[in-house]
Amino acid sequence: MSLKRVAVATKHGKLAQIARAFEALPNWELQLAEIDTDVFGTFSGETKRTLSPKDAAIQKALAGAQHLGFEYGLASEGTIGPDPNFPLVVSDLEVIALVNASGHLVIVETHLSNEIVAASKKIKSESDFEGLAQLFDLPRHAAMVFARFDHGLEIVKGIHSLAELESLLLSRLASGASEVWVESDLRAMHSPSRQRNIEACAKKLAARLGSHCPNCDQFGWGVIGYEYGVPCSGCFEIANSVPRAKQLGCVSCDYVELLELETRSVDPSRCQLCNP
Ligand SMILES: [Zn+2]
Ligand SMILES: [Zn+2]
Repeated sequence: MSLKRVAVATKHGKLAQIARAFEALPNWELQLAEIDTDVFGTFSGETKRTLSPKDAAIQKALAGAQHLGFEYGLASEGTIGPDPNFPLVVSDLEVIALVNASGHLVIVETHLSNEIVAASKKIKSESDFEGLAQLFDLPRHAAMVFARFDHGLEIVKGIHSLAELESLLLSRLASGASEVWVESDLRAMHSPSRQRNIEACAKKLAARLGSHCPNCDQFGWGVIGYEYGVPCSGCFEIANSVPRAKQLGCVSCDYVELLELETRSVDPSRCQLCNP
């Protein structure tokens, strides 16, 4: 099998997690493409994110492939915020994209996890320092300090030490900032919990690159969507929000296979007619 060279566009040391996931694919060779991925948006908000996470990952991957002149590019993007299904729980949605340099081939995998250290706390006085180490899981994880002044917002990132955090907060409070707060530093190299999620996402991508289309042998065979519609066990009305089968597809040809799911009927509690 021919060697496939992949430019991994990252500024935040995700290469280790991605490389571990690719150990099962000996003919794929990863190389770091050191481009400034922050132009696509930052967690701390200095650069606004204008693209969707999926499109940002694709654009970063393309920029990486271009940078090294490689045939393939790879990049990931994380979004940390309220879980789409349980708004009171914080979740980490990781997206990882592999593209070819021409942009004709795009393979995207996602991984949603609630295992993420992500917190935010307003600081008004020294009494708010209580429990900071626990809340931000220092020194394993890191914190960022934000202070709003008349001349603008000052941000200090990558703080792992509680002593350093406390002394910085004291100086910000004393220097007349109108607002001071702490947030988790979610950049991959400072967040072991995020690193685990990136690795899980990269493993899904690696599994997909190891699967080939039964029709044309193109790599990247995998789930491309779902078919919906399962009958209610009470009234036999079809519940259209419940998936009935997985669609497995190819990134190159039109060949699709359906994989029936276990769900043969839904409980009346999930039925629009029985439980409107
Ligand atoms: Zn029903
Ligand atoms: Zn195919």
